[in-house]
Amino acid sequence: MNESRVLKRSFWGIQAAALLLVSGGLQAQTQVKPGFNLFSAQQDIEIGQKSAKEVEHQLPILHDRSVERYVEKVGKRLAGAIQGPDFPYQFKVVNVSDVNAFALPGGFMYINRGLIEEADNEAQLAAVMAHEMAHVALRHGTNQASKAYLAQAGLGILGSLFGGQGASSQVIGSLGGFGLNALFLKFSRTDEEQADVVGAQTMARAGYNPMEMAAFFEKLRENAGHNPGKFEIFFSDHPSPEHRAQRIEKEVRILRPLHLEGTVGGFDSIRRRLKRMPPARSMAQIMKQQSQNQPAQPPGGQGPEIGINQPSSRFRQFEQADSLFRIRYPENWRAHSSERSFGVILAPDRGVIRDDRGEENIVYGVIVNRYSDEQANDFREGGASMDRRELARQTQNLVRGILRDNSYLTLQRRSWRNETIDGERGLSVVLSGQSPTTRLEERVTLFSRPLPDGQLFYALFIAPARDYGALKETFRRILSSLKINEQAFKRQKL
Ligand code: ZN
Repeated sequence: MNESRVLKRSFWGIQAAALLLVSGGLQAQTQVKPGFNLFSAQQDIEIGQKSAKEVEHQLPILHDRSVERYVEKVGKRLAGAIQGPDFPYQFKVVNVSDVNAFALPGGFMYINRGLIEEADNEAQLAAVMAHEMAHVALRHGTNQASKAYLAQAGLGILGSLFGGQGASSQVIGSLGGFGLNALFLKFSRTDEEQADVVGAQTMARAGYNPMEMAAFFEKLRENAGHNPGKFEIFFSDHPSPEHRAQRIEKEVRILRPLHLEGTVGGFDSIRRRLKRMPPARSMAQIMKQQSQNQPAQPPGGQGPEIGINQPSSRFRQFEQADSLFRIRYPENWRAHSSERSFGVILAPDRGVIRDDRGEENIVYGVIVNRYSDEQANDFREGGASMDRRELARQTQNLVRGILRDNSYLTLQRRSWRNETIDGERGLSVVLSGQSPTTRLEERVTLFSRPLPDGQLFYALFIAPARDYGALKETFRRILSSLKINEQAFKRQKL
């Protein structure tokens, strides 16, 4: 008898990858099938190559023959054991202290020096590598990108709102920048569970003890309690599924008897070698330095023309395609929207600037969209209405995503405010930083409030700081014109 069970419905209505538990006379190992994807496996490789270039431009790759050779040997052993598309797996070590690793679509894997130093043995290093490899083999990165594209939820792909044809080419077209890589590295808890399961299976096939995966994740979780900064990125890239260790242990019981093989060998001497090197910087230090090194003016001194005409005091109305909301905006601005998306961008001429990568950047204007995270799915399925805590949690997650995708922005301290937005309790917060597009200090105010379906409505008001005051009244009028249509949400549910 086959028992199949969809673990978690994808919110976007697309059936996400299902964990299929096949039970015959003997309990077979869990079969994990890749989810919905707009891309081909070949495109995964192309995207990965392109992103890898960006990554290696921005992160310090450790060039040390012994370390490289060792990590490559472990990686090759796992690559020989993993199922799925024939990806050209490659492995590099990043000279940073944070405990983390990540892999881009197509198999470009980066292991932080901090992670190798943190592992107790080769099998624990192999565990994280097998987990990352499983994300690649299951094509979680482009699965997430596909979902974000359909939902127009990823800020990094806002550019694709502006016309063009063919979904995947649009997403690829808007590729570039470290921010967009973050889109491929945002995994759901279901993805994480799948990566643990397939990672453990791969370890077992490669002759490693997969119990070390459970042990290492437990160790990381415990250490994260003492030194959150060092581990934070790992757990935000890889949100812990519930009962993570138990789930891995359960899979290992199915995989028994294990056929363990010796290690590649030399883990301890590699780790000693790393510890003798000058200490690595943290990601936070690297990011800070990079933003300081950015020139105040673009090369050549010719920046884009910055400035807009006075917004008209006469407003017109934008109505969302499914009538989910209405909002008013100055008559001499434009509303950029697409039939299939929830969101809209309201911007004046010259409020949208195309940068040298061909990406559209909003430098003056308003982005209206909705947001939901994986945890919100659990919460919505519970049928609860969004209380103050849940509103704060989702808004904080959204802000985190925005800060990740727009690394020049930082949160302004003590800028959180309670708001009333279209009659509902909401929040606002201010982000600011030097815009890489205009080279001017940019100010972004985020407003959020619950939607009738338990998702988060948000609006980002964007302008150079020097002009923000002059636009404040316009922004306030736009926000106060918002009307969420509860009836339309109810109709959508049916
Ligand atoms: Zn993961």
